[in-house]
Amino acid sequence: MANKIVILGSLNLDSILQISRLPQPGETLSMTGKNSAPGGKGANQAVAAARAGGAQTAFIGRVGQDETGNFLLETLKKDHIETDHIVVDHQKDTGQAYILLQTTTGQNSILVYGGANQNLSLTDVKNAHSIIKEADFLISQFETPVEVTTAAFVYAHNVGVKTILNPAPALDQIPAQLLAATDLICPNETEAQALSNVSVTDLNSMRQAAAFFQKQGCARTIITLGARGAYIYDNQHKIDQFVDAFKVKAVDTTAAGDTFIGALGAVLKTDFSNLVAATLYANRASSLAVQKLGAQPSIPTADQVQSYFN
Ligand code: ADP
Repeated sequence: MANKIVILGSLNLDSILQISRLPQPGETLSMTGKNSAPGGKGANQAVAAARAGGAQTAFIGRVGQDETGNFLLETLKKDHIETDHIVVDHQKDTGQAYILLQTTTGQNSILVYGGANQNLSLTDVKNAHSIIKEADFLISQFETPVEVTTAAFVYAHNVGVKTILNPAPALDQIPAQLLAATDLICPNETEAQALSNVSVTDLNSMRQAAAFFQKQGCARTIITLGARGAYIYDNQHKIDQFVDAFKVKAVDTTAAGDTFIGALGAVLKTDFSNLVAATLYANRASSLAVQKLGAQPSIPTADQVQSYFN
């Protein structure tokens, strides 16, 4: 049986600006191409859970009262994601991201306009209690207000629903209440470093970062490491190891982390007993995503993940 996943998070329209390198201050640089596609960390993770993991997925979020918002709702529905708890905001327009994609390296730099995502409220969470209660996992990030994620995680924790926090983009500090209600924290290297103040380079420093999160009540950490794969720490199951990434040619790493997290949540057991196997699956899904342009367009289906590695 596929997991039931609830994602609380952002929906953005991504404008992907293809450039050969980042411009210097004061410099004008021609783009080599541009296009737009649905994105936002929350929406990407929902698509990954539904598409790459085959999970039954519902979303809690906000869009503006505009064409872009309609478009983003329709794209989620195409992936069979439940959108009943996405509120249409009357004050702010739909979130937007501008992705500066360096075509020579596949690396990206991103500017985000939060818009309606910033108006997600505590009332929205209350109105979604019924779907959170039914979920196997609640997943959230930091492109929507942190107090809203905290309230949702505290509720989930109290009703026995497991929680996965992707602390991205990094904050200076995560509220203590939120970490205490988090079952698994899943930062990338930069975020792990920003949050723990540990320079995350080798096994020892990753252990130290995981110990930092554990001290604040979060028993499990996965640090994603780009082309190096991921590091897993689970105090309960005594796991402390790397899981290597697959060697592929990356053309665009946008949504690599989001694909990883959505796929992970979709196949993870709620007692976390298959954490290593689920991480391997998430590595597979995201190694396919980095070989294609765009956020959601690059996220593979479960069949593609299975067949690519058979
Ligand atoms: P984020 O997108 O949040 O910065 P990462 O860059 O750590 O996250 O990537 C998340 C996951 O995507 C990695 O753990 C890995 O499995 C996969 N991945 C990312 N970049 C590559 C790459 N160049 N080759 C293969 N897999 C990759």
